[in-house]
Amino acid sequence: DDGVVVVGAGHGGLSCALALREEGWSGPVTLIGDEPHPPYDRPPLSKRVLVDPASAGSITLADGESLARSEIRLVSGRVERIDRAARKVLLVDGTRRGYDHLVLATGAVPRTLPDGLPGARAVGVQPIRTLDDALAVAALLEDSDDVVVLGGGFIGVEAAAAIAISGRRVTLLEKLDALLPRVAPQPLADWVAAHLAGLGVDVRTSTIATAVETDASGRVTAVRDSAGGRHAARLVVLGLGALPASGLAEAAGLRVDGGIVVDGQLATADPQVSAIGDCAVQIRGDGSRHRYESVQAAQDQGRHVARRLVHPATAPYDEVPWFWSDIGPSTVQLAGRMDLARRTVVRGGPGSGSFSLFGYDGEALVGVAAVDRPRDYLAGRTLLRKGRSLPATVVADESADLRALAR
Ligand code: FAD
Repeated sequence: DDGVVVVGAGHGGLSCALALREEGWSGPVTLIGDEPHPPYDRPPLSKRVLVDPASAGSITLADGESLARSEIRLVSGRVERIDRAARKVLLVDGTRRGYDHLVLATGAVPRTLPDGLPGARAVGVQPIRTLDDALAVAALLEDSDDVVVLGGGFIGVEAAAAIAISGRRVTLLEKLDALLPRVAPQPLADWVAAHLAGLGVDVRTSTIATAVETDASGRVTAVRDSAGGRHAARLVVLGLGALPASGLAEAAGLRVDGGIVVDGQLATADPQVSAIGDCAVQIRGDGSRHRYESVQAAQDQGRHVARRLVHPATAPYDEVPWFWSDIGPSTVQLAGRMDLARRTVVRGGPGSGSFSLFGYDGEALVGVAAVDRPRDYLAGRTLLRKGRSLPATVVADESADLRALAR
């Protein structure tokens, strides 16, 4: 019996394993990860690591030895099947692990280009999800003066900024008519586009790749787009989003609907199986759906499951989601649900490179986004956590001390 078995040694899995010990869980804890590296910090991959691969040496979060000191067994391998009736997981190498409780923390899998797109599998077409992906990008960058980034989500814009700053020519194509689609309110999306342009990135919205051209060796040479453009490229970075890694759960008969479905306690319909982080979608009692791809969500959910296993009466999980991104020299922070905002109040000037946006649905504050304005962001996050709002007129007044008002 391997006690609590956690599948996936990323941000969520690691935090769950560590929190089990902090909460006083005395049984065995087994953390199974399929990457050839001990648990590491994922956000730097699309920011620093791809242009400074040596920095990968400093992103390790825990290694086998430090985990062993907390009596957490780190197992290297890929789980290929769950036998819920026998309460066992089967690894690709043929070993089996029995569990009292199973935590699925398998993360997400990056979207790739459609198979039918010419050159979709060319050498030099590379997503960024894992450390090995980021190191592959770094290696390709060595002989790439021209780079195309496909997708204007956070990973795409971060990578475009970092690569442009390193001196390469970068073109970014985004299918929709604005960057950071669905997550950023218009003033933020506009600022990101202007910021990238200022760093030298050629940003083209409402444009998709239609073909990847290659040389005789199969390496990418250019990308053709839907607007008739042709962009030289020796490297194509894919920032097309990611899909929840829910295959294991689905094959085990657990409900999957845009993620492994979990309830307010992050439990699946099988009380012996929980799911956390990018692979999970929480459907709360009121029917609302919650799935956030962020370090905070994965870690907080990992801690929640640990707490609930030790203290079954723990209140349901309802943390306010938050997220940050470094786009070149600027830091963007978001909290709450900007996607639900019907009206946005701006503090400061986007032109000055430091501003914040408070999103309202009626009188209720639903989200905050800030560029290099940590004080406004923290005030907004505090208000959201407390379920409080401030009148839009107060927020719009630059002289108002929001931190004091949020306290
Ligand atoms: P992951 O951290 O992805 O961990 C899942 C692990 O499970 C992986 O190691 C995977 O290989 C492993 N696994 C999957 N299936 C199996 C199996 N069958 N057997 C064994 N192991 C398995 N968030 C932020 O908040 N801020 C940022 O700036 C930010 N930047 C990001 C930059 C990049 C390039 C990426 C990819 C993500 C970024 N994110 C950022 C998102 C954040 O990293 C994720 O939301 C977070 O890592 C989710 O944690 P997780 O534990 O759910 O999944």
